[in-house]
Amino acid sequence: MRLYLVCLLSLLVIRLSAQAEYPKDSFRSPMDIPLILAGTFGELRSDHFHAGIDIKTQQRQGLPIYAIADGTVTRIKVSHWGYGKALYVAHPNGYTSVYAHLQKFSPEIEAYIKKIQYERRSYEVQVFPDFGELSVKKEDLIAYTGNTGGSSGPHLHFEIRNSLTEKPINPLFYGLKVRDATNPTLSEVYAYPLAEGSHVERSGEKIQLRINRQTDGSYLADKIEGFGNIGFGVVAYDRQDLAANKNGIYSLTQSVNGKLYTDINFKSFSFKETRYINTLIDYEHYSSKRERIQKCFKTNSNQLSIYNSLYNNGILEVKEGLSYNVEIVIADLAGNQVKLIIPIEGKQQAMINPPISSRTENFLVASKPNNFALGNASVYFPSNTFYEDFYIDLEESSDTIKVHNNSVPAHKRFTLSFDVSEYPTEDRDKMFIARLDKKGKPNYISTFKRDQNFTAKVRHLGTYTLARDTIPPKIRAKNFKSKQWLTNYRYLRLLISDNLSGIDTYEATLNGEWILMEYEPKTSTITYNFDDKILDQKQCELKVVVTDNVGNTTTFNSSFYRN
Ligand SMILES: [Zn+2]
Repeated sequence: MRLYLVCLLSLLVIRLSAQAEYPKDSFRSPMDIPLILAGTFGELRSDHFHAGIDIKTQQRQGLPIYAIADGTVTRIKVSHWGYGKALYVAHPNGYTSVYAHLQKFSPEIEAYIKKIQYERRSYEVQVFPDFGELSVKKEDLIAYTGNTGGSSGPHLHFEIRNSLTEKPINPLFYGLKVRDATNPTLSEVYAYPLAEGSHVERSGEKIQLRINRQTDGSYLADKIEGFGNIGFGVVAYDRQDLAANKNGIYSLTQSVNGKLYTDINFKSFSFKETRYINTLIDYEHYSSKRERIQKCFKTNSNQLSIYNSLYNNGILEVKEGLSYNVEIVIADLAGNQVKLIIPIEGKQQAMINPPISSRTENFLVASKPNNFALGNASVYFPSNTFYEDFYIDLEESSDTIKVHNNSVPAHKRFTLSFDVSEYPTEDRDKMFIARLDKKGKPNYISTFKRDQNFTAKVRHLGTYTLARDTIPPKIRAKNFKSKQWLTNYRYLRLLISDNLSGIDTYEATLNGEWILMEYEPKTSTITYNFDDKILDQKQCELKVVVTDNVGNTTTFNSSFYRN
């Protein structure tokens, strides 16, 4: 490990000066097919910015992926969630390329990782090979595209990171070609009164502006009257050629009477700032409408580094009797853009629609730690869990607690505790903390059980309860039957599921020997590859054990034959 670091660091020092320029011809494309994107760098996602590009793979899996340059594999991660099967390759020029949601790795890497999976008896693994242990040359086949982890359709998630800082950088800076002559699309525009006494069209709440498309393709908003501190927000996306995907925009600028107020672009960001996306978007609007309004102004708690230029935090101070012309330009990386003009007239008026303030008994001061007792439960928010002070709505009835609702984003984890002393021990074993979804269905939350207390750390406001799961998981064969001859089978597949608390562990043996089962939660399937191990017996006894999150266990036995 140390040797690897020394090598990597010395390489980085030599190459650091070249980094700012984004070398255009050092990297080949990770794939042979034309690059059509289902996702762009910086795209707005839930609780994060997209750290790479999503390359469409023609609705297929198993397409070859090539090393974009010479390098060494520095990390291999296999996970049920997130990036699924992922590969990290460090290159001598100071960048690391990342390939995610893979179906499988190249034969050499596959053998390397399988050995570790068999040693650790786990499908989920993460390894950091020593420097040079798994070297790759530019053009080498390194993996195949797939759909593993948190991927909703076959594609390659591809990233380029600075190896030293781990900051992801827009991969399209490196000369990868994506056909794009299509302008970004502006679909909605909002105006926000931002200070006490401020109003737009006599409203103290945000309003949607009517926009009209002009013959040159730009937009003109109907003239608005307003007063005080006003900010704007847009719903916009970008399409490239050859695909209908609504991808993220690259940049946004806002000028007022020719003066630049806001200049945002997605060159790079850091993973530690990514959750501040919830201060960039109108989170309340998103939580109810599932639509992301990107603010052209910056709130105080927003720590994002995506602002190249910011005047008065992007907030317009509208004065009585003056006129303003706000120009917002949204662009993609290829330079295609859409322009919007918003004319404003300063006019102080009585409000017809004053700001709504929903007061509750509990005013939460975000900068301080807060603890609230809720019957048998309590909730503890560390200081700065939230971006802003607000009236928190808390309710409890028996073992269900309403901890406000998801219209307010939490930046940090907070702790829920339930006193379970009134439940007999055997009941407690089957109980867990659950979050109720909109339909009232309980979703398992990782629960720490200590004596008479259950606790959980969560990051979303909402309704939580104590739930109970007494039903063990289900297991059934997917592609074979008991006593069948499976000589020509490459894979053994079973379906596993759990009704409530969800699957915690699964384990399978063939004739008493542990076998690697690859679990794909999206299809509830576990898969064994017969290439993993040569069975010398004709008759095979298969045993699969699945345990849910409260310890209910199901064992499945079957036998089959193989030559
Ligand atoms: Zn992606």
